[in-house]
Amino acid sequence: MESPASTSPRGAGRYAPSPSGDLHLGNLRTAVVAWVLARASGRAFRMRVDDLDTARARPGVADRQLADLAAIGIDWDGEIMWESARSDAYAAAADRLADGGLVYECYCSRREIAEAARAPHSPPGAYPGTCRDLPDAERALRREALGPGRVPALRLRADVRELTVHDAVHGSYTGVVDDVVLRRGDGVWAYNLAVVVDDAGQDVDQVVRGEDLLPSTPRQAYLAALLGLPRPEYVHVPLAVNAAGERLAKRDGAVTLSDLAKEGTTTRSVVAQLVASLGGPPGADSVEALRGVVTADSLRSGPWIVA
Ligand code: GLU
Repeated sequence: MESPASTSPRGAGRYAPSPSGDLHLGNLRTAVVAWVLARASGRAFRMRVDDLDTARARPGVADRQLADLAAIGIDWDGEIMWESARSDAYAAAADRLADGGLVYECYCSRREIAEAARAPHSPPGAYPGTCRDLPDAERALRREALGPGRVPALRLRADVRELTVHDAVHGSYTGVVDDVVLRRGDGVWAYNLAVVVDDAGQDVDQVVRGEDLLPSTPRQAYLAALLGLPRPEYVHVPLAVNAAGERLAKRDGAVTLSDLAKEGTTTRSVVAQLVASLGGPPGADSVEALRGVVTADSLRSGPWIVA
């Protein structure tokens, strides 16, 4: 049988922005790294819009993000995947886990979770398992007590507490695996499930993204294994920071292409700045100049300080 035109024999890399605001220099730089590592290794490059939470997605933002990515020279293969259209795939994955007895309903509010997580012996940020072993009668009561528009959250019944993954930049990384949310109490499918299902669905075998997501990676690798999906190669890129060492953000002034353009900075000079920050040849103003220059080793030089 012929393989679908969109699959690549060499796998794929990807970029998956959340359409919550315009991409800043740090986001653009991470996208460039994802693109160049995929292209330099002969992989396809996929685009995916992480718009699961449609209530938070702002109109027009995704289109602007895609236009900004194209403007700095990033191209991608095949159709863009929109996560808001993928509920069936997430439901199928959750069903598969449920068939294995690996899903339970959780009725906890955010506050209950925060309070319980302060108990001794729970790893920071981990769900303490409040609803894991509730008797059926108690479940029925708590289900009834949910407010309007709420459904029980669905959680994974994890049988490990931590997992070690390999990251090309950070080496061996051990992090918490807990009873991660698969579907939230407002019915929105959870990022950690979606990312695993969609990376496999887009043939992605190289995940390049900001270092802030390294702590979520063991949970995702664990979910992938339970779903029988291959574990991709992970490359977590050090973040862009301001002169005070804080993560780059809107408060740092003009950090998006459109704000920089208003100040007279052209897209071309932004590309040159990104290329220089990644060790590219001086004066080069095309992301093509980074092929073979950006490697896991070159990324180990630490955060990018945007002065
Ligand atoms: N959408 C996520 C973000 O913008 C990235 C998801 C991922 O790369 O796994 O932070």
